[in-house]
Amino acid sequence: MTSGGKLDTSILDAGRPLRGTGLFGLQNQQLSEKLGEFHLPAWRIRQLETALYGQRITAVDQITTWPKELREQVQAAGFRVGLPEIVETFRSIDGTERYLIACADGQTVETVWMPEGDGAEDDDSALEPTDAPSGRTWTRATLCVSSQIGCAVNCQFCLTAKLGILRNLTAGEIAGQVAAVLNRQQAEPGRDRINLVFMGMGEPFLNYDAFMDAVRLLAGPMGIPESRMTVSTSGIVPGILRFAEEPVRPRLAISLNAPNDAIREGIMPITRKWAIADVIEAVRKLPLRPRERVTFEYVLLGGVNDQPQHADEVISLVRRANFPAKINLIAWNPGPGVAFTMPDPAAVDAFQQRLRAAGVPAFVRRPRGRDIYAACGQLKKTMD
Ligand code: SF4
Repeated sequence: MTSGGKLDTSILDAGRPLRGTGLFGLQNQQLSEKLGEFHLPAWRIRQLETALYGQRITAVDQITTWPKELREQVQAAGFRVGLPEIVETFRSIDGTERYLIACADGQTVETVWMPEGDGAEDDDSALEPTDAPSGRTWTRATLCVSSQIGCAVNCQFCLTAKLGILRNLTAGEIAGQVAAVLNRQQAEPGRDRINLVFMGMGEPFLNYDAFMDAVRLLAGPMGIPESRMTVSTSGIVPGILRFAEEPVRPRLAISLNAPNDAIREGIMPITRKWAIADVIEAVRKLPLRPRERVTFEYVLLGGVNDQPQHADEVISLVRRANFPAKINLIAWNPGPGVAFTMPDPAAVDAFQQRLRAAGVPAFVRRPRGRDIYAACGQLKKTMD
């Protein structure tokens, strides 16, 4: 484990390619097909599912509901669990942990564990009685999950953007980040209050099918309610429209970050493809559940989008949108090679107050893990 902020780049080759066929990430029918040569009855596949996703085993040998002989045969045929593996941990003074998690091909992805939530003031995860192991210092936690290695969206304030897009993650690699971290933390979704935010590296809606397959695994056999998941998009309109049709889906957050198209184009070039009005029109198609609100994430950049007139424009924008919404304000986190300045704390406060005075719910997200580059917009494998 490494403590402190500076990332040692020598560990980047730590994940080595694994051989064999991974089972983690496959849905029931796919497991049945993959293991076709063994002619397993449906109940054996269900046992495998429970072991993979409920117990989060790391080796075929741990499927204790299967006879030893079957486990040996399956292993001998080259099958393995294939859970991504944590190869490096960076621990913040605030308890946040950032992980490099190795995929089967040796590529690494980043995942962040935030005990006691993600710092949003309106986090409704009230403390609950728990029979969690004694000595534990957290009662609830939020996991920030990546959906791609790198990102193609190129938001100007984001360190991940500097990687470009390396590749999409598979459903198993997305859900596997969650499984690996739950195992490390000895957390149990049925007992502990675990929230997921798909706000790590990548744009989930540019890897839509794998992302939604992962959601179905997480909400199904892994036991994390969809209502405790939030996906953030930079505003990929076709993705939002598909998402609106999903019977099982997380909550939606739009990474807005600007009060109008002119400013947004300067910091999020994707605006040239889909303007704010197009994004809002698509979000309107989302059938919201009772008490559900859409979140607008708004990263405050000093002198760029944090002035009172910007707050006024955001107020009109939310009023025009006319669906239940809230604003999450995030003071920009500095990173090497990104030419913005942090907003003045007084400006952050004034921005929030202005929104609230107009009746727009607005919350300031406390920065988590800033010292280990785990905070919003700071995920990047190599620090220059
Ligand atoms: S903020 Fe999100 S969508 Fe934008 S470049 Fe970074 S990872 Fe991609």
